[in-house]
Amino acid sequence: MFFRMWVVIWVGLLIGCAEEAIETEPGKVLQPEKIFHWRLVTTWPKNFPGMGMAPEHMADLIREMSNGRLDIKVYGAGEIVPAMEIFEAVSQGTVQMGHGSAYYWRGSVPAAQFFTAVPFGLTAQEMNGWLLHGGGLALWEELYARYDLVPIPAGNTGVQMAGWFNKEINSLADLQGVKMRIPGLGGEVFEAAGGTAVTIPGGEIFTSLQTGVIDAAEWVGPFNDLVIGFHQVAKYYYYPGWQEPGPNLELIVNKQVWETLPADLQSILRTATLAVSNDVLAEYTARNNAALKELVEQHGVKVRRLPDDVLAQLKLISDEKVAELVGDDELSMRIYRSYENFRKGVIDYNEYSERAFMNIRARLEGY
Ligand code: CA
Repeated sequence: MFFRMWVVIWVGLLIGCAEEAIETEPGKVLQPEKIFHWRLVTTWPKNFPGMGMAPEHMADLIREMSNGRLDIKVYGAGEIVPAMEIFEAVSQGTVQMGHGSAYYWRGSVPAAQFFTAVPFGLTAQEMNGWLLHGGGLALWEELYARYDLVPIPAGNTGVQMAGWFNKEINSLADLQGVKMRIPGLGGEVFEAAGGTAVTIPGGEIFTSLQTGVIDAAEWVGPFNDLVIGFHQVAKYYYYPGWQEPGPNLELIVNKQVWETLPADLQSILRTATLAVSNDVLAEYTARNNAALKELVEQHGVKVRRLPDDVLAQLKLISDEKVAELVGDDELSMRIYRSYENFRKGVIDYNEYSERAFMNIRARLEGY
């Protein structure tokens, strides 16, 4: 009896749906679907492995998922907009989208640096936790709304290397007078430690190092650094990347243009970006190890660890610099508090999770 009632209800529901569909069909006017043709500019050299391919993959995925309704053409650094001008170009609506790193805009938006990397700050996994489930993204959206931009997390390289040098670093004094390509807060700390920091887009670092415009450079890590060929112009490769423990990449969309997108295309764009973001970190995790082996075994690169006391002093300077950056700006203060609370929380919990496991695994493997 009960079963029969269910069958009647289900059949009734199905007929209801079918009837509705049939009824609406004759009156339905088929509109040609609007196709959005957007341009995306990046801070990376065109088709550069890893982060440079991220927007290319994103555009392909979005085209497929939207059945061609959102068609994005990707331009590398300098093709239509210079690398360091994409924030302004997207903010003003000259182009619809950009892909890069928030710390490149520190000159005009100092607090943006929190959304790339803070020295001795969050790792990739932790950064994603803060942004997506710890209130970070909402703060980033609030900050970028002032510039008519919608930010979306768009990839992470994982812990980077400290950089390429042509001399050994045995004490903080060895950084005195060194001119180094090192962007963001890491650069500010480097300056306070006695060096000179410059921000140069990825595609121009090699020549700057080769011609002696700079003495040292940090870029990413073995996978990307091998592609550029830094081993041809520098001898020592230092770790760990204290300045960028989990740098987050950004996708920026002009806010007015974003609001013209139908909800389904907004979802497709967000979902595709999240998928590619995950893929970026996976690719770095998979390729760094082999690339480092190649650098050492085939190119004779000397890998060196920064001495503990140098790192300890850089950490002290970092804490000061971050506090200075926050100053008395209300939103910067809220971003800082949110970031710092999250950082402390994950460091505490790491005692029972990643750190506990990594330490014991390394010990058991004889490291
Ligand atoms: Ca870097």
